[in-house]
Amino acid sequence: MHHSPAVDLAAAVRARQVQAIDVVESCLSAIRARDGDLGAFLTVDGDGARAAAREVDARVAAGRDPGRLAGVPIALKDNLCTRGLRTTAASRMLEAYLPPYDAHVVERLRAEGAVVVGKTNLDEFAMGSSTENSALGRTVNPWRRSHVPGGSSGGSAAAVAAGLVPLALGSDTGGSIRQPAAFCGVTGLKPTYGRVSRYGLIAFASSLDQIGPLARTAEDAALLLEAIAGRDPRDPTSVDRPVEPWRSAIDRGLGGLRIGVPSEFLPESLDPEIGAAVREAIGALESLGAVVRAVDLPHAPLSIPVYYLVANAEASSNLARFDGVHYGRRSSAARSLEEVYSLSRSEGFGAEVKRRILLGTFALSSGYAEQYYVHALKVRRRIREDFDRAFESVDVIAGPTSPVPPFEIGSKVDDPLAMYLCDLFTAPANLAGVPAITLPCRPRADGLPNALQLHARPFEEATLLRVAGAFQRATGHHLRRPPEPPR
Ligand code: GLN
Repeated sequence: MHHSPAVDLAAAVRARQVQAIDVVESCLSAIRARDGDLGAFLTVDGDGARAAAREVDARVAAGRDPGRLAGVPIALKDNLCTRGLRTTAASRMLEAYLPPYDAHVVERLRAEGAVVVGKTNLDEFAMGSSTENSALGRTVNPWRRSHVPGGSSGGSAAAVAAGLVPLALGSDTGGSIRQPAAFCGVTGLKPTYGRVSRYGLIAFASSLDQIGPLARTAEDAALLLEAIAGRDPRDPTSVDRPVEPWRSAIDRGLGGLRIGVPSEFLPESLDPEIGAAVREAIGALESLGAVVRAVDLPHAPLSIPVYYLVANAEASSNLARFDGVHYGRRSSAARSLEEVYSLSRSEGFGAEVKRRILLGTFALSSGYAEQYYVHALKVRRRIREDFDRAFESVDVIAGPTSPVPPFEIGSKVDDPLAMYLCDLFTAPANLAGVPAITLPCRPRADGLPNALQLHARPFEEATLLRVAGAFQRATGHHLRRPPEPPR
């Protein structure tokens, strides 16, 4: 049952063809059987999920509206706060944290009848591209267990790809929804900055962070976006725009649509199989009626240095609260106030998080801030202006999601720069604030997934979903499933 699309599950629960409790039991048993070696989940909340499902069934039985996600099981990246349910950010710092409140998106999901089954693994504090920076567990790629699922929302992507849940939420600061979705062969959407409230998301870089859906179809991603989008006064950057009927955008064809392909997204150095798959996908969109033309994003190649200055500067500030006094684990070895701070932070944070705090603090420090942080902000503006200009002549900008294919576990952990380069094509959307979607296209010769990425103007998620839906209907690449391992 958990292999069915979320739209079908919700319709069946609503029509009383199936009970939410049966859907969730089937989902929990799939997790029990298969997550042992996949490692997608850090916490499974069987009791909470059953209680939520029974509540949905009661609503249906009483003739009340069960919500647009009635009875649909969903997994949440473990940097989204869930009341009374452990929320760790995959860090020793928050290993035992029980939030006293739900994130805005979690409140929305509950109101819409979704059933939260558990919390998924991630790179510690969402910093990474492979989920290997998790302090609390290891997640493998469902397509090949020797390979990483991508990151930082690797657990959410692996859970959806493996058919453990039809839907998951991730967060995307520089690519953390889209790159793992690409590596695991699922659909991932980073909404426009401000589209979804960040209230209750453990902050990494507040000017870049967005929460968004991972799903197996564009239609399911649209359904989930409908449930979570909208203004929330507790996040002043969330925007007061109506929630659109995004699922109906899927049905519109591509006639008249203009797609721009920037040469910066297809550089010589790109993995040739990725380049070929993306060109083929763009050709498929053209044959569906879109017009394809060249555009320029001249500053996009500067995204890596700009992103790592801005993101780390903001992270160094956001992570200051985890000091063993205000928030987070307190060292039991400390004998002075000074030691409470230093030992709690030394023990609580992993190596990559420490590297980011050091880099970010340096980029903001007096005497260097002009040269690094302020300079990065200026280049960030150029990147945004490049998108504005390109969107004067096209409606969508297409390219690959990742410059490299899914890689082997351990192959990049000792080379932070190689890991950072994974964000080459995803960080621009965060820096510019525009929405972007990733979807599977022709797989690699060895069977691992390849992905196409599409960008649109701010708040034009409808356009992304329309193109993604048309592509999926025409090609069916999204229907491929990873092999189930022998029991
Ligand atoms: N890979 C990027 C990083 O390590 C992106 C992370 C994210 O989007 N959360 O910072």
